[in-house]
Amino acid sequence: MERVLKAVLPNGRSELYRLPEPVDFNPVGYRVLVPLRDGRGATAVVVRQFLADPEGLPYIDSFPDRFPVINPLAIEVLKNNLLEYLTTLGEAIFKLLPPWADWYQETFVYLERFSPVGLPKEVVKLAEELKKKGRLEYEKLKRSYDWRLIKFLEEKGFLKVETRWVAPKVEEYFLVAATTDEEEVLKKISRAGKRRKEETLRVIRLFSELGRELTAEEIKELADVSSQTLRYLLDKGILVKRTYTMPPFRAGVLKQSGRPAAEPPPRALFKNPTFSERLERLLPYLEHTLREGGDTLLLAPTLALAEEYHRALYPLFGDRVLLYAESLPQRERIKNWFAAAEGFPKIFITTPKNLFAPLKNLKLLVLEDESGNYKLERSPYFNLKRLAFELVKLSGGKLIVFGEPPSVELHLAESSFKVFEREKTLRVYLYDGKNPFGDETVLELLRGFSDRKTLLLVPKAGYSNLMCPRCGTLEECPRCEVFLRLEGKRAVCPVCGYSTEGLSCSRCGEALKPFGYGVDRVEELLKRQIPEGHFEFKTTLNEPINAVYEAVFVLFADRILSLPDFRKTEELFIYLTKAKLSLKEGGFLFVHTSGESHAAASLTEGEKLFYETELEMRKALKLPPFAKLYLVALTLKEENEKLALRVFKEVKTALAGLPVEVGFSKAPTFKLRERYRFQILIKTPPRLERTELKKLSGFLKELKNRYRFVRVIPNPRSFL
Ligand SMILES: [Zn+2]
Ligand SMILES: [Zn+2]
Repeated sequence: MERVLKAVLPNGRSELYRLPEPVDFNPVGYRVLVPLRDGRGATAVVVRQFLADPEGLPYIDSFPDRFPVINPLAIEVLKNNLLEYLTTLGEAIFKLLPPWADWYQETFVYLERFSPVGLPKEVVKLAEELKKKGRLEYEKLKRSYDWRLIKFLEEKGFLKVETRWVAPKVEEYFLVAATTDEEEVLKKISRAGKRRKEETLRVIRLFSELGRELTAEEIKELADVSSQTLRYLLDKGILVKRTYTMPPFRAGVLKQSGRPAAEPPPRALFKNPTFSERLERLLPYLEHTLREGGDTLLLAPTLALAEEYHRALYPLFGDRVLLYAESLPQRERIKNWFAAAEGFPKIFITTPKNLFAPLKNLKLLVLEDESGNYKLERSPYFNLKRLAFELVKLSGGKLIVFGEPPSVELHLAESSFKVFEREKTLRVYLYDGKNPFGDETVLELLRGFSDRKTLLLVPKAGYSNLMCPRCGTLEECPRCEVFLRLEGKRAVCPVCGYSTEGLSCSRCGEALKPFGYGVDRVEELLKRQIPEGHFEFKTTLNEPINAVYEAVFVLFADRILSLPDFRKTEELFIYLTKAKLSLKEGGFLFVHTSGESHAAASLTEGEKLFYETELEMRKALKLPPFAKLYLVALTLKEENEKLALRVFKEVKTALAGLPVEVGFSKAPTFKLRERYRFQILIKTPPRLERTELKKLSGFLKELKNRYRFVRVIPNPRSFL
């Protein structure tokens, strides 16, 4: 019996391995480099260890890191979600690991020496391609050239074929003193000049004072010595070089903010806080968690917000604040990722996809109750917010949620949270009319705010749509079933990017006229009507939101309701809540809407009206959170409804006997990028028996593997 490791590979498979020599740590969550069956090396992640007979199992090659690459708790969280999200542990782990973590071996072909004189054309072409690129993948090359030719050229010494690791360069050199005994050191350099001796002593004292490895740069700066002296000390064996693949995290300034600390409640929900209010709320909790030795994971829905948090918290907590963001250089990213695993307490700020960074001691999770950016956009389509909730539960940590506004789902669970809310008094004006610019009262209102900080929010980009005055129809993109949008002098498709300068009707050739109002048209019109106004114009409010405006005019708000999506009213509610948030106390909110939606009505009647009406509707229509959905999306090259219906019938037959409803329709945007889209929607009760879920999951997995044109999206955000 011996320790055996189960590890998952990027292709989703799992394998058992034995260790070449015993290790003194729990390797679960660590990367290992392993040999594949074809002999090439690949990265795997250890998900389990146990005792077994290791006979016949392959050995792992090595552990490339000093820390786990993923939070070991992630493995438990993911295991609980594999069935529902139709995935495997291997696929799930590698989709949530940063791309740099997937090292692999690849066989490359290099040019050794070459003179093209008298050689066949094909060989010259190959040589020139290699000369330009430096190296080419052997497998790819084999597709365009005969492998015997490559082998022949290799034997003749023209080419070199070599298998190498594809991995980012993350090695770093550190220096350390062989001894800090000054007398011993001076004996070794007895023939050196006075100045060099002094420099040497300064270096040695630096090491005995700090007691850790230092980079050459650090020594030069802190001991004020030259590069020559460092080289000299290395030659004499007084300093020794050490190379780390992943350098140990080296904290510069580990500050406590010095602010008062407060213990966070087990689960807290803050309703509609601005960015500065959020910070004010968070600081005592962060301070408390640090003092208790715990890590905080702060998930910001967007990169911009993550960076904003970092800017705000770094001056207070110094290097205890770590940012992991795609905008950082790769080297920094890798460093910060593994620094999450270091022993000191920290605040780790990142975007949702990186929630499984290897934090050692997660004690506080902070996130936004916003759904769009928490949904993984490709398979396995995880709801990352839910995974984060499960992660913090497993780690025994506390949870702080900011909702601006809280989602319908969270509203239902509100009683399990301690809720904080700050009321703001606003003046609200609901305007029900077709065109606010045809009405002098609206322009009069706007004039009244021309010298104050005022925002115009129009939920539509560009200038307008385009209409043919003769046919009376809106012009569509030739590739999609989507209206073209006038931007400057061009008509643009907002979905596929198609654009044209020809602004005449595709049916009759008549010149097209602007129709409807995008933000650019509103801006143009107001600059003409109220030239003295200092208005800002936006289509959305981006995080971080602070209360800075005295007035916000939301124009053409119903445009959001025209989206054929079950969350559209909630989307409008979110849009309006963010507008409210950006207003100062006592500010003026003008909303142009037909007034039929409960989202707009809640502005004057209270948010309860929105939540109650919305939940009632969702319940009646069996939509989330009262049902779970699987969207089977069929994307066809031809308008082949027969084929789509055949798949629908197959789904219905296979799922007969399960408590599910299966529906068929065209997608809301039927034609997209020259493809035709059909949808099969499967509704299940919020909870299925495990055997039922297994059956459903097994079938759907098989279905998406069988048809290349089928994607299955568990818990879709929308039907678009
Ligand atoms: Zn298009
Ligand atoms: Zn026409």
